[in-house]
Amino acid sequence: MTPPELRYEAAEKRLNVYIHIPFCIKKCSFCYIPVLPAQHVPWSNYLAALKLEASRRAPRFAAGGALVETLYLGGGTPSLLAPGLLAELVGHIRDLLPFGDSATLSMEVHPGPHGLALFQDHLAAGLNRLVICAQTFDSGRLARLGRTHTGEEAAACLKRARQTGFAHLGCELMWGYPDARPLDMAADFSRAVSEGATEVSFQWFNVNPKGFLPDPREQDRLWTMFSLMKEAAVRLGFRQVGAQSFAAAGAAHRHHAINGPGLATTPYGKVLGLGWGAMSHLGGCMESHSGSMDRYLQDPGAGHLAQSIPSDELVWGAFTYGLTVLRSVPGAWMEGPFRQAANGSMLATTEAWQEAGLIQADPQGGMVLTLRGEALLDAYLHASGTSNRGGANPLGPPGGGPDSLPCPG
Ligand code: SF4
Repeated sequence: MTPPELRYEAAEKRLNVYIHIPFCIKKCSFCYIPVLPAQHVPWSNYLAALKLEASRRAPRFAAGGALVETLYLGGGTPSLLAPGLLAELVGHIRDLLPFGDSATLSMEVHPGPHGLALFQDHLAAGLNRLVICAQTFDSGRLARLGRTHTGEEAAACLKRARQTGFAHLGCELMWGYPDARPLDMAADFSRAVSEGATEVSFQWFNVNPKGFLPDPREQDRLWTMFSLMKEAAVRLGFRQVGAQSFAAAGAAHRHHAINGPGLATTPYGKVLGLGWGAMSHLGGCMESHSGSMDRYLQDPGAGHLAQSIPSDELVWGAFTYGLTVLRSVPGAWMEGPFRQAANGSMLATTEAWQEAGLIQADPQGGMVLTLRGEALLDAYLHASGTSNRGGANPLGPPGGGPDSLPCPG
């Protein structure tokens, strides 16, 4: 059975819509996302399939009183969409589903030599937030990562998006490169802010194979780098809104349910994923597409798969989501179902993490990350292996239990 406290959001009306554009000009060396080369994209066919999928799936949410809080175009490289197609797509979703007054409509932008006109088109299409996927402002490092843009182009994109009038402007950065110097992370943070970013989030650049933690010296190096970046964030007036994400003081900030660990298992809100390769999380149920792009283009419903999420995975997803996004796992979440999860292996995990100095109890009986935990949690999660469903590794997630909720038809 799904723990009752993890089920309450299933009845929620808030809806997050994720649209996947799985095409890229070139595959970056660090990327694990399945993407297709943009050179051969049948854009109008893909848009037609997306719109058909949305037309088929959205009505049940509209009929149930759903209100869209966030629309997020990710990828892949959604900024490759021609302005006319982007506006058509956003308009189509808006026709199908009611949006809240303060809804954020975001898109990831791959930096390049973009002029002001491109950002004006994004604004005209109805978007009110952009996320510039800069990764770093160090052009040499970008080249080594296989990125197609320079650091200066990333900075110019932030500046132009801001000039265009995007009040909500995110910047996505990576950190923890093996050759990084202690102040590199802080320098990238400061540069993003000076170019106009109102939100900055980091992803850890992993070099360790699954199953192996960075050695103690490497852990200390990561921690030092992270601490220096946090000092810079405080100096610049940014507040921490997630384990590795920050927002300008006074800037509106809304977490996107599609982001962060627990992507598919978070009990927070519902995510309707549209497009080839997109995942939906709908109250304990995960939906996705299987099959080739050709199959999707022929019939976007043909490879549609729905499966319930095992209750142990829900508990694990809620725990990591609480730690990283909410910045606290409420005490109530750590009661019965948590203790029972995977025959007690969740308890073993928390004990091991407490011993490693990653998490600590908060006064309300919940759990929070320590500063060390904020810096190193990604490394521990990666080392534990999210695919470890056996529960044998005390640092890892619990094994899968029986299926919990039946999926809606
Ligand atoms: S542009 Fe983004 S999605 Fe595409 S390969 Fe690079 S990191 Fe992956």
